[in-house]
Amino acid sequence: MGVTVLLTGGAGYIGSHACKALAAAGFEPVAFDNLSRGHADAVRWGPLVKGSVGDAEAVADALTRYDILAVMHFAAKAYVGESVTSPWSYYGNNVCGIIGLLEGCKRAGVFTFVFSSSCAVYGVPPRLPITEDTLPEPVNPYGRTKLMGEQMLLDYASAGATYNADCRYVALRYFNVAGADPDGELGERHDPETHLVPLALLAANGRHPALEIFGTDYDTPDGTCVRDYIHVSDLARAHVLALQHLLDGGPSTTLNLGSGRGYSVREVVDAVARVTGRTPPVVDRPRRAGDPPMLVADPAKAREVLGFVTERSELDRMVADAAPWFAADQTDARSA
Ligand code: UDP
Repeated sequence: MGVTVLLTGGAGYIGSHACKALAAAGFEPVAFDNLSRGHADAVRWGPLVKGSVGDAEAVADALTRYDILAVMHFAAKAYVGESVTSPWSYYGNNVCGIIGLLEGCKRAGVFTFVFSSSCAVYGVPPRLPITEDTLPEPVNPYGRTKLMGEQMLLDYASAGATYNADCRYVALRYFNVAGADPDGELGERHDPETHLVPLALLAANGRHPALEIFGTDYDTPDGTCVRDYIHVSDLARAHVLALQHLLDGGPSTTLNLGSGRGYSVREVVDAVARVTGRTPPVVDRPRRAGDPPMLVADPAKAREVLGFVTERSELDRMVADAAPWFAADQTDARSA
């Protein structure tokens, strides 16, 4: 029997890819998901427990029932724009959720965590690429909820000694996640879809009227926002390495997960045109609230601590892996 791991949000985009990566590495993933945004058919490498992370009793019950040794916490709302217009649901889900989760973990005696944090904690960073010691100053509610999650973990881990618990965590600050499982078993299915790569692919296919470019007057080389895109399969592999680091006795740490390369919105549109052979129609729009102009990771610390390097995160390869998932027949089959 391998080590059993609970993945909150294990039916979601990143959580399901992490289940697959864990299973491939000999772990036993158990997905814990309320299916509000996840998909039961994406849970294919272990059981699915239907429940909400804010429900400490349900969490403790699942942890005990499956003899769980560690938790990966993916379940959260993750749309920057929505967090600005609907902050209550972000504080409710992301902050109250982690309170319930940690209470459930404490009751069940599970003290090993891998936490999905975000580059949104940095806000508008003073310099690029962004290192982990940059003072976090989030500029939107989503980023603030992720920073609060990190701070809670830090406090819980510090307090662990008072109740004889070896409480340790890795907080992973994701940059922009894109792509899909290269085997075609998993992909990105958000409803509503708001992310750049999927919308550009859908626009190229004629399944989305036009990609709206949010902001063309930023102080960036072509006026559009620059982001660091990382392949979801690379990201999933980093979670396995983070877990192994903790199981080997490694200390708590906070790590960027990015490729170290930035691409503008227009460069992503160009990549979609190159890969699909179809130029997505675009329309210029005003800036989206809460968007910093440029976010690019310094990936050195994850390389040093975990030995993690990206393997599939070149832009065209990410777009090519995602493209079949947004092809017309796939989209029809999924919505049927
Ligand atoms: N973006 C855009 N049009 C869209 C969706 C996104 O111009 O329809 C831009 C967005 O403003 C940001 C970048 O693409 O600069 C990545 O946004 P996404 O929503 O994919 O991820 P986020 O950065 O919010 O996590």
